Amino acid sequence: MAKYTSADCKLCRREGCKLFLKGDRCVSGKCALDRRPTVPGQHGEANLRRKPTGYALQLREKQKVKRAYGLLERQFKRYYFEGKRQRGATGEVMLSMLERRLDNVVYRLGFGVSRSQCRQIVNHGHITDNDKKVNIPSYQVKVGDVVAVKESDKNSALFKEIKGSKVTTPKWLEVNTNELSGKIVALPQRSDIDLNIAEHLIIELYSR
Ligand code: SF4
Repeated sequence: MAKYTSADCKLCRREGCKLFLKGDRCVSGKCALDRRPTVPGQHGEANLRRKPTGYALQLREKQKVKRAYGLLERQFKRYYFEGKRQRGATGEVMLSMLERRLDNVVYRLGFGVSRSQCRQIVNHGHITDNDKKVNIPSYQVKVGDVVAVKESDKNSALFKEIKGSKVTTPKWLEVNTNELSGKIVALPQRSDIDLNIAEHLIIELYSR
């Protein structure tokens, strides 16, 4: 499957905001966006001065969300179509589905430092949902599901630091770091998403 392999920090610099793609580095003084807040490339400075058009604003918003969740265009667009099909505001349904991806849930539970690491944790079969191994990062969790680290992996070096630590989760999740498990207690609401997103711009872009 296609994969983005270039520098992650360039994505934050392009979008002009922190997408938290590199774990601890993002909250340290080494963050590339803090050190160099220009658009990457030879004409980055000039890009900052140019007034964006309506289309550019819509495109940047879509790219920002897509990149924050580590998706490529085709995967991301699927969430838009699914959001449109379901009852409710398309943008909110779309964001709720992105939040309920298994790799994102693992990230929100604090079992990994970034979504890309959590995606790998899921891919490598370290995660169970209701005691069944699930290695599909796009798997949608449901209310009442219990997501946990596989029993045989609980003492592995990968999760050593997380065990027993204090993790702050959104209110739709309940975490037990001693057991390395978490429960989905509600559906994620729009207010639970901390990234600054104007989803109406994404809907406008795809409705063009
Ligand atoms: Fe983005 Fe993190 Fe890189 Fe900063 S360190 S630019 S937040 S990926």
